This record gives sequence, structure tokens and C-alpha cells, in this order.
Amino acid sequence: MRVSKNTVVAFDYELTDSEGQLIDSSADDQPLSYLHGYGSLIPGMEQALNEHGEGDSFTVTIPPEEAYGEYDDELLLELSHDNFEEAETLATGDHLILETDDEGDLEVTVVEVRETGIVVDGNHPLAGKTLNFQVKVQSIRKATKEEIEHGHVHDGTEEH
Ligand SMILES: [Zn+2]
Repeated sequence: MRVSKNTVVAFDYELTDSEGQLIDSSADDQPLSYLHGYGSLIPGMEQALNEHGEGDSFTVTIPPEEAYGEYDDELLLELSHDNFEEAETLATGDHLILETDDEGDLEVTVVEVRETGIVVDGNHPLAGKTLNFQVKVQSIRKATKEEIEHGHVHDGTEEH
């Protein structure tokens, strides 16, 4: 079977940045499994996996526009302390969810805590990065009718 729409694909991966630094991998976990053709993965990855067979290994380089998007300077914001419930406990690198009027819930990373305010970055941590993946396709199966209706894989580990 080949990877195509309405197949469930499990694959192992190793993700490195353009300097060769390891960012993430599936090695200590289960392979990542997903329903192909529903935008569950970054676009460049679904495209790269398409038509591959079980046991295939390959590498793919994915530019930001096919991954987590370009870095958006407008999502780097300094907000006053009274926007945060526990401003005094915040530190650089903390992740939190901000409720915003126009963008809904925005996941941000604390970049700097200043006297005047708190600088947060709403970009995805991998925004603006070119990503290199080493991929191994572990298994491919037909999706069930229910998985296709829901648009996601049922592997017993997530809410449905
Ligand atoms: Zn479901």
C-alpha cells in the first residue's frame, strides 16, 4: 500500500535545523501516526510522504512557507504587567495562552520580562525556519469509516 488520501500512516522522524541541530525526533516515542490528506501535518511533510511505501526512508528539506510559516514581527509584543494574572512569576521561555479580542486564544512564549512590561512572541517556535526531516515510514493502513468522518486517526490516545 502507498501513502494516499484516507490512509493512516505511522512514521519515525528526526528533525534538524539548517545548522544540523537536532530539534525533535520520534525515537523515544511511538512513531507519529496520522490520517493522510486532511492537513494534520505541515503541508511540506504531507506532500513529501505522499506515494511512499512501507519501509521507505527518505530525507526532505521543508522551507518555512511549507512548514510553520514566515516569522511575523507583529506577533512580538510588549504588554503591560496587568495583562497577566501572575506577572511576577513569569520567566523567559515560559509558554502561556493569551486571550485576545481579535485572534482568539494565542499561544505565546515569554521572551523578556522588563520593568515596563512583558515581551511575548506569538510566533510558532519553528516559524521562519527551514526544517530537515529524516523520515522512515513504518506502516500504512486504510483508514476506518469513522476516522474518515472525523478527519483524524483513532489510535486510542486522543479525544474524539
Ligand atoms: Zn474521532
